[in-house]
Amino acid sequence: MVQFNNVPVVGRNGYIEADTAFHNDISPVKVDLVFGTFRSEDTSQYLLPVVKRAENMVVNDTSSHDYLSPTGIEGFTKSASSLLLGDIDQLWKEGMVFGVQCIGGAGALKIGAEFLSRYMNCTTVYYPDPSYEIHGTIFEFSGFQNTFEYRYLNRETKAIDFDGLCEDISNASVDSVVILHACGHNPTGLDLTKDQWIIIAEIMKERKLIPFFDIAYQGMASGDTEEDAWAIRYFHSEGIQFLCAQSFSKMFTMYNERVGNLMVVLKSGFNSDSLKIHFERIVRSLYSNPPNHGARTVYQILSNPELYKEWSSSFKSMVVRIIEIRRAFRKALEEEGAPGKWNHITDQKGMFILLLLTDSQVEYLRYFHHIYMVKSGRINVTGLNFTNISYVAKAINDTLRKN
Ligand code: PLP
Repeated sequence: MVQFNNVPVVGRNGYIEADTAFHNDISPVKVDLVFGTFRSEDTSQYLLPVVKRAENMVVNDTSSHDYLSPTGIEGFTKSASSLLLGDIDQLWKEGMVFGVQCIGGAGALKIGAEFLSRYMNCTTVYYPDPSYEIHGTIFEFSGFQNTFEYRYLNRETKAIDFDGLCEDISNASVDSVVILHACGHNPTGLDLTKDQWIIIAEIMKERKLIPFFDIAYQGMASGDTEEDAWAIRYFHSEGIQFLCAQSFSKMFTMYNERVGNLMVVLKSGFNSDSLKIHFERIVRSLYSNPPNHGARTVYQILSNPELYKEWSSSFKSMVVRIIEIRRAFRKALEEEGAPGKWNHITDQKGMFILLLLTDSQVEYLRYFHHIYMVKSGRINVTGLNFTNISYVAKAINDTLRKN
């Protein structure tokens, strides 16, 4: 007979383990660098004022809570896809580009993985080492037999190992799926240059690989949404077919509304109608249809020129704060004389810094200084503020000298 007590016993790991440990610590000086959301200088979770305004409009306009279709609000998926590709009116009409409203960026990765596994018979996925911590799990749980990492970070130089990356994906078997962070790579903050993207696109074409972009920080890497979508636009201009999981959690500060879009980009002449039916079936089998409020709010902002203008200028202040904190943190570590070089803190972009600490150094920071981060030493830049930067820099100096 099947027994619950036969289920293997496991412990928490990654983000959830670190978050739980932080909440269990009763020290008044504890510092949370674990979470993945944008915090203000006073540590409160920041909500963009334009989002609040748009939400009120959506609530006032809501006259029913009827079900959405499995693929969600078409206006939302279209404006979300335009944010990635620019003017897509004709492509949308012809079915060359379409979107599936998903439960956040993670949901878009999951729906894409299910599609690739079930209907394209893909069995192998490559993702960067290191990467967003659930990339491998999502594909493994969707039936991918081979989940491989490709070289990305050179831990010695703290720069991208571009030769290693090219070698690994050049050796990938035909029809392998390759996950590519379009910008603001999580957790390294290191992005490919345009010249490097051009080479990657060539390899993808030559090796017949399937690119699966993941974009969760559009605009938060360079401050410019178009610049941060450059790689996606380039692949499209090269006639490459691909998927793109798009998250609205970070740039709209709407983490728990779970707003995401899976954009599917096809070659011309392809009839996407039956593909869409496959996506509908996947969604039906998982959660039937998506929720309304968050996607409707994002759609309200993207489709209203006044709100769009306010959004694009106000979220840039988040980027400014990230840059200022990076500069101050590097300076504090250098002034403390913390062993090692710290230029990578200001060379990298986006919400995360990978400090490349050992597990025992991360443990030491927890137990002796009440500072929490994911093992591997990934910290959220906005967990730092001008009150705690010096405390954290001193603690890191102490940790590195004693461990
Ligand atoms: N992809 C990357 C690279 C991320 O960093 C994240 C979130 O941290 C996601 C996807 C998931 O986004 P969401 O919270 O919208 O599911």
